[in-house]
Amino acid sequence: MKSERKENLIQLNESYKSLSPLDRMGLLFQDFESDRILVTSSFGTTSAIILHMISKVAPEQPVHLVNTGFLFEETLQYKNEIEKRLGLNIIEVGASENKHRFTRENQTWKYQNDLCCFINKVDPTNQLKKGKDVWISGLLRFQNENRQHLRIFEPRNELLKFHPIIDMTPEEVSLYTTIYELPQNKLYYQGFGSVGCTHCTEKGDQREGRWLNNKKTECGLHL
Ligand code: SF4
Repeated sequence: MKSERKENLIQLNESYKSLSPLDRMGLLFQDFESDRILVTSSFGTTSAIILHMISKVAPEQPVHLVNTGFLFEETLQYKNEIEKRLGLNIIEVGASENKHRFTRENQTWKYQNDLCCFINKVDPTNQLKKGKDVWISGLLRFQNENRQHLRIFEPRNELLKFHPIIDMTPEEVSLYTTIYELPQNKLYYQGFGSVGCTHCTEKGDQREGRWLNNKKTECGLHL
């Protein structure tokens, strides 16, 4: 990393650290051009907080759902509910039909799950990253070990990852959701702490139901 970029990163983290998550989001849209900012959402159990913040500070901003073709029906219903409730501009993207068919017919989630995630999630997201400077993400530090060290801004190749809610506690997440009466993915009430694809998600606390009994813990999008 060039030293200038490193200094900018330190300054950015310093100036955003003491702000509330909502104020961090507001400042991001002052500090960066909106067409250089990428927003994606999985419409999982903690997605509503970031989406609510976007609706407050930049309601026109496109929000992308990477549809793997293996999402739960409840997740797609939740996307529609959030879209209506928060008035967001949500755009679905995904792998080409040919590529997705390859994963479906070869059941890659069973035998080559990294390839499956690459084709259905990572590659479509890589297309979205082109021409962007910052990528907003709703990662939370308490969700698993891999996220413990993350700061508000982290370099990710040519992009900056922006984690405005990284330091929220489970109690703060719950309070924010309650205060703003945000809708929840119905799977949460059935015992799913985290929600991904139907083939790779089981019930469980936080992320313990994702790729259960498998060494894989992340899809490769964020970490
Ligand atoms: S989470 Fe599972 S089904 Fe979804 S893309 Fe990754 S391996 Fe495939």
